Amino acid sequence: MKAARLHSIGDFRCDEVEVPVPHGKEILVKVTACGICGSDIPRIYELGTSTKKYPLTLGHEFGGTVVAVGEDADPSLIGKKGAIFPLIPCRNCEACLTADYAMCQHYDYLGSRSNGGMAEYCLVPSAWHFVESKAESTTGEMLGMVEPCCVAQHAIRKGDVVAGHHVVIFGAGPIGIMASRWARLFGAKPILVDVVEEKCQFARDRGETVINSMTTDVVAEVRKLTGGHMADVVVEGTGTGPGLCSAIECCRIKATVVLLGNPHKDTVIRLSDHSTILRKELVLKGIWNHHYAETPINEWAYCVQMLDEGKMQVLDLITHRTDIEGLPKLTKDIYERNVVICKAMYSAENK
Ligand SMILES: [Zn+2]
Ligand SMILES: [Zn+2]
Repeated sequence: MKAARLHSIGDFRCDEVEVPVPHGKEILVKVTACGICGSDIPRIYELGTSTKKYPLTLGHEFGGTVVAVGEDADPSLIGKKGAIFPLIPCRNCEACLTADYAMCQHYDYLGSRSNGGMAEYCLVPSAWHFVESKAESTTGEMLGMVEPCCVAQHAIRKGDVVAGHHVVIFGAGPIGIMASRWARLFGAKPILVDVVEEKCQFARDRGETVINSMTTDVVAEVRKLTGGHMADVVVEGTGTGPGLCSAIECCRIKATVVLLGNPHKDTVIRLSDHSTILRKELVLKGIWNHHYAETPINEWAYCVQMLDEGKMQVLDLITHRTDIEGLPKLTKDIYERNVVICKAMYSAENK
């Protein structure tokens, strides 16, 4: 089979490899689509894999159809389609014992530490990772969007967003737009903010309310759009100092700021904004990935359910599709900023 593998920093290529054979509880998934994550680009061109394990098939945002199972797995899974939860928890650490798998201290991960979804097939440790979709209308590409869509959902849930809330989201990339859609699904009124006009326009074309903070005073505009109320919840998705400062300034008293964007090395906040956190009794919440246990709610199962019911849209965010052979060129074009993407992915449906 074909697999897009990282051999060393900058050496990402399509190889011909053996199709893996599932044993024990393992399941073999024929990948239908696998997204290129923002984190894959520095992984390929700057950082390499965190475990220095090479060659490694990348890709952690994927779904597919079960085509074979090991002798201890349920054979009735064969033929079923679903999304794959890529994290492999140790099940032993403090986080795992409270089912907070995203915070596991000794995790493995499909696509960054073990072979992932940028291949024709992926060996998945067990059916525990498989989130089945039962709707005919849910395509393989939609299942490839579930992972980032769950990150977006987690941000909105951790912000305790409820009906009637004004939610301001900094960063109008795919996760920002999906966060806005979750906020609306939960009955809230979202506003997106970005500094790149192309991204602002892309989101506006999809019905979003968007502020370009390079050309518009964000705080004044949020005040206007919320009728003076300001934001009940802000999702800071840029990880930048100016983003965080504006996020704080958009808050009403006792608002929650959800920190979603990975920090840049020079992220600092102004003294006046630090003071605002105190004076308005703001709540700052860091979030990490998504929640994959049944209590309080399995965000993955809910996401697939919303896709199946047609209540969450994701396909219109996919701007670039390629086959496995095309992944090295597409990731290089993204790294060199030759293309402006919302979501780019490997899609087996792109024939
Ligand atoms: Zn990702
Ligand atoms: Zn653990």
